[in-house]
Amino acid sequence: MIKNDLNSKLRLSKEEMQQYGYKIIDHIVDHFETQHSKKPVALASREEMDSLLTEDIPNNPSPANEVLDFVMDQVIPHSNIVSHPKSYSFVPGPSNYISVMADTIATGFNIFSGGWAASPAAAELEILTMNWLLDIFKFPTKKGGGIFTSGGSMANLTALVTARRVKCGDDFSKAIIYLSDQAHSSNIKAIKVIGFKKEQIRIIPTDMEFKMSLNKLKNAIARDRLEGLQPFCIIASAGTTNTGTVDPLNEIASICENENLWFHIDGAYGAAAILANSGEQFLKGIERADSLTVDPHKWFFQPYEMGCLLVKNHNWLSGTFSEKPEYLRDIEGNESEINFYDHGIQLTRRFRALKFYMSLKTFGLDAFKKAIQYNIDLAEQTEAILRKSSNWEIISPATLAIINFRYHPIGEDISEQDLDYINQKISAKIVSSRDALLVTTVLQGQVVLRMCLINPRTTIEDIKDTLQKCETYAKEELVMMQEKLV
Ligand SMILES: *Cc1c(COP(=O)(O)O)cnc(C)c1O
Repeated sequence: MIKNDLNSKLRLSKEEMQQYGYKIIDHIVDHFETQHSKKPVALASREEMDSLLTEDIPNNPSPANEVLDFVMDQVIPHSNIVSHPKSYSFVPGPSNYISVMADTIATGFNIFSGGWAASPAAAELEILTMNWLLDIFKFPTKKGGGIFTSGGSMANLTALVTARRVKCGDDFSKAIIYLSDQAHSSNIKAIKVIGFKKEQIRIIPTDMEFKMSLNKLKNAIARDRLEGLQPFCIIASAGTTNTGTVDPLNEIASICENENLWFHIDGAYGAAAILANSGEQFLKGIERADSLTVDPHKWFFQPYEMGCLLVKNHNWLSGTFSEKPEYLRDIEGNESEINFYDHGIQLTRRFRALKFYMSLKTFGLDAFKKAIQYNIDLAEQTEAILRKSSNWEIISPATLAIINFRYHPIGEDISEQDLDYINQKISAKIVSSRDALLVTTVLQGQVVLRMCLINPRTTIEDIKDTLQKCETYAKEELVMMQEKLV
């Protein structure tokens, strides 16, 4: 039990802090060492969680270790392990230990990463790492700028607020924004948050390869101009979440230049692929964006939360987000000493740059390049395996480490509806077995299985094992269907 005099100051003794902290580190290290032998999927209903966790607000203290043990036994295990090698769905979060510890330092010292005066070194490291990113994406390092955010959603929102101010000023009643039917839902959310009406959004259809149709984009812009509306921004995807597809960036950049539109690229999923030799070719034209969302807590292997927005001109951010309340007067400083609260929405910000800085310094950029190339190659190997089998059909080939496929055995006469049913069942069965996180998506009206392979711990053996299980489940379903027919 924590000594009473310390308790009312929310403190522990030195020995208690050390014992408590070392125990937590042991848990985390153990998780890194053993996660592959755990089940990646957590399944629990609201009733189960209620009965496990609901209690009245605790007025009196409990022993620190008791609370910790309860959390480690009852809370932490009831979450999916997004860094598990067989966690294939959504966008995995591979993370890395150095950044986990860096986050621990940032939190341990509770560093305020809002203004220069509060932490010059934190601001400097954000400027430094932002310059590394500007360099990686061939944005101008002197004039360009950016900010770390909680994630891609906030980066997209920050971009659109900036774009709206630069292109429309105060009156955006006629402004029109364009994005494809494969763009991430966070963009629509952001557009709604900034007060656009549904009539101001144009969802441009994609072609057979899930790329934004340039012809339909041009038609939409031309029609809007004829109607006296104000086209102002195109959002392209550099790696859609569904299929990893990159929109035709160079062509869209040219349209934006000719039409004087803001060019935002949502690279939250795929932009990191620029570090891989074979990824670079997919992202040609990315350097022509006015603003670019990158999401380090995805393919830059950072733990949550870390998103990033890069812009061509740092003045766009300060011009959009600077407010000058009296109580911040004394800490304004000079222009070169950036206050990141003037470059985005948050005032109080955690020290996100630290984990990016420490993990890059420790492992080196080459390690990141190799890991990303490994991921891209792994998806291509998976595609090759699926193509050799008479049971599987590729719906969207390996693209930036994402592959979509479905069970569709040659020689069996199965209706589209039944194929959808079987593939849905494969996913349901593998998820309820908790062996792998593999869920479906819908592409061109078909239910398909989707693997996103950005975890460097995933091996081709993991994938073969999962595919084997999927085939077994599929055959069970097929047999049951055929029995019903007889
Ligand atoms: C994940 C994702 C987002 C949203 O990012 P969060 O970090 O989840 O907020 C936006 N766009 C794309 C393409 C994504 O894949």
